[in-house]
Formats: sequence, structure tokens, C-alpha cells
Amino acid sequence: MLIHRELDGDLMELRILGGGREVGRSAVLLKESNRSVLLDYGVNFDEKDIPQLPIHVRPIDISALVISHAHLDHVGAAPYLYITGSPKSIATRPTLDVAKLLTVDFLRLNSYYIDYELREFDKMYNNSVFLNYGESVEIDGFNIKLFNAGHIIGSSMVYVETPQGERVLYTGDFNTIQTWTLSSAETPPVEPSTIIIESTYGGRNHPPRHLVEKKLLEVVEDTIDRGGIVLIPAFSVGRTQEVMTMLYTQAPYLDIYIDGMSRDITDLYLRHKKFLRDSDLFSKVVENVDFVKDVSMRKKILKKPCVIIASAGMLKGGPSLYYLKQIYSDPRNTVVLVSYQAVNSNGHKILEQGKLEEQSIDQISARIIWLDLSSHAGRDEIVKFVSRYKGSLRNIVIIHGNLEEASDLSSSLRGKLGEDINIHIPSNGDAINIE
Ligand SMILES: [Zn+2]
Ligand SMILES: [Zn+2]
Repeated sequence: MLIHRELDGDLMELRILGGGREVGRSAVLLKESNRSVLLDYGVNFDEKDIPQLPIHVRPIDISALVISHAHLDHVGAAPYLYITGSPKSIATRPTLDVAKLLTVDFLRLNSYYIDYELREFDKMYNNSVFLNYGESVEIDGFNIKLFNAGHIIGSSMVYVETPQGERVLYTGDFNTIQTWTLSSAETPPVEPSTIIIESTYGGRNHPPRHLVEKKLLEVVEDTIDRGGIVLIPAFSVGRTQEVMTMLYTQAPYLDIYIDGMSRDITDLYLRHKKFLRDSDLFSKVVENVDFVKDVSMRKKILKKPCVIIASAGMLKGGPSLYYLKQIYSDPRNTVVLVSYQAVNSNGHKILEQGKLEEQSIDQISARIIWLDLSSHAGRDEIVKFVSRYKGSLRNIVIIHGNLEEASDLSSSLRGKLGEDINIHIPSNGDAINIE
């Protein structure tokens, strides 16, 4: 009887606290014999843009919190754990440096809904073990190692070996193609029995990147030749740095302006050069693009043809919305959306309707296009990645994708890997026993 109970205690359990059948709010609790590691603790936003938290976990029950990358859907709820607790946190240094800037912005916009303050973030930061790619740390019998995920600066895949010898690879958000700023995701040289994988684009493939980049350059040059302005609304982390590097490298004669929080983020990119693919190239780009400093400069740059890369990426607010209001009525201008556009976002509305009534923009004459410059792996890339671990793999847990994308990915994985592997598409609150 006793032996049986002890064996029961040895089972590893994965509890999905967030990110089940949804894009965002990633939070997976890996539990074994009353010891746990929490993989990410992010937020999501509902259709009214109100933050949605993951399921509660007691900080005292966590041996360590691992943050895969700086996006709020992976770290936005983590400071909650530091109101009453102080678990060790593990991340790369750029992850928490970038996360701090995003958290300041998040709290400014959502203080009504969020109960922690910046001091809890700082407490987390000061409780951190910072790892570089390929480095590991052992906490409470869990061995935790980070690998490059290629998604944004500092983004990591997390490999955990439990005290009882279970081996889990959590991909976080990952990108398998090399970009202008980052190296592609690694294939960690490990033998996981369980993979927890994102499925943002689990049902789709992206068009070849070089064709998308060619299209972007054509549109930009065509607009400038017509005497127009190109507005590129872009997320301040990652996409802005990627687009400015891409454009400057291929067309150094362009006048490129950067506006929004991306200036501070770009400074962090420069501070963490070893996490970049080509830091010399990036430094050169930063020296040769112009950062918009104030309102008078904003007005001035609109007087001649140029490229403006500005946050927010979905035109939710910030300088990109300001510029849209200035340029939308002139058919010589172009708006190039290069980020994911959530349903109900302003970016989605102008693409679908050609107007934005809430902002008194009733007829957009400027050209509007959307280009797929995603920083997430597409379906075939995910399947190829997982297939490399066929020899050791027993369980696949699909998260961070809506049910349709996750189900499509599941079918593709089943077709490639056969019937012997367990594939789960858990909902939030589900617990998966790993045997
Ligand atoms: Zn994410
Ligand atoms: Zn992300």
C-alpha cells in the first residue's frame, strides 16, 4: 500500500493555469512530489481590452518561476507572486529588462484592474537567476536550462529535468527562421519525453519571408517615388527593430523615422548585443535612422516623403494613431501593417472597412496593406521541430493557440508521428498526468 502511494507521488503533473486553447496568458505548473516549477505567468486581454489573469497559484508552492520571454502574455501576471511570496525567478537578462519597460506601460494603462505595483516587479527582478543560452541552474532538484527561441530578444525555450528524471521541453513562443535581428530558434540537444508547444499558427504556414520582404520594399519605394509617406505601425519590441534593420540594410537612402517606446527598447537591444544575430549591423542601423524626439519633430517629418515606424502595432493608440490621422486622406500615402491584428483592433478595422469611425476617420484614401512578418513558427515548422524528438517523445501538450489552430496542429503531428504519442489540447484548469 505504502509503495503504491509513493509511486503515485512520483507522477509528474502539468496543470494548465492559462494559455489553454487561447493565444496568450501562458502559465503551466509542472508539479512533482509537492514541488513545482511555474513556466510563465502571463495575462490576456478580453474584447474590451481588460486584462485577464491566469488561475491562482500560491507562491509558497513554487520552487521556481521561469519566464520564457518579455511579452506580457508570458510575464504580465508574474509580479502577483511577489506580493506575498518570493520564489526564485529564472530568465535571460534582456527578458526582464524589456519586461520592465512593458510592465511600466501596462500598469499605466491598467492600474484599475491590476493589484501589483512596480515594486513587486522589482522584487521579482532582484530574486532572479539570469541565464545565458545553454546555461543551467538547479533549484529544489529541478534542473532548468534555457535555449534560444528566436522570437524576440532574450526569448528562451525552457528544458526542465525533474527530481524523478522526467524531461520536459517548453518552447514558449518560438521562430525557426533567421531574421535580420535574431538567430533562428535552436534545436536543443536534449531528449524530452514531454514537449509543451505553442500553436499560434498551428494550422497555417507563413509565406516565404524573402517574398514578404521584397513586397515591403516595393511598396515603400513606390510610395516614396509618388511623393508619399509610408506609415508602418509596429510593436515597439522586436518588430520595430526588425523592420528598421531590414529597410535600412536594403535601402540605406531612405529617410527612416522611429517613434514611440521603441527608442527605449532599442537602447536595451544595444545593451544586450550578444543576444543579437549581428550586433555590428544593428549598431550601424541605429546610428542611421532618426528617432522622433518631440511633437515639433513629428510635424516636421510629415512635410516630405519618408518612412515612419511607430507604435502601437495595431493602431490602438500612441504615435501610430496620430500619424494615421495626419496621412489617411492622401492617396499617395501607404499604411503597411506588419503585426498581428486582433479582431476589433483599429488595424483590423481599417483593413476590413477602410475607415475608423471612432476616430472620425470616415474614408481612408491612403493605400492599406498587411504583410505577414510573424515571429512565430508556422505549422510545418512546428511539426518539423517536434519530429526531431520522435525518439524520446511520449507526450505533446499544445497550448498558446485557439482551438482550431491547436486541433489542426494536432492532426498534422499525428500524421507525422503516428499513434504512439499522447497529444493533449488542454483547457485552462486541466491537469495532465505524465506517466
Ligand atoms: Zn505569447
Ligand atoms: Zn511572444
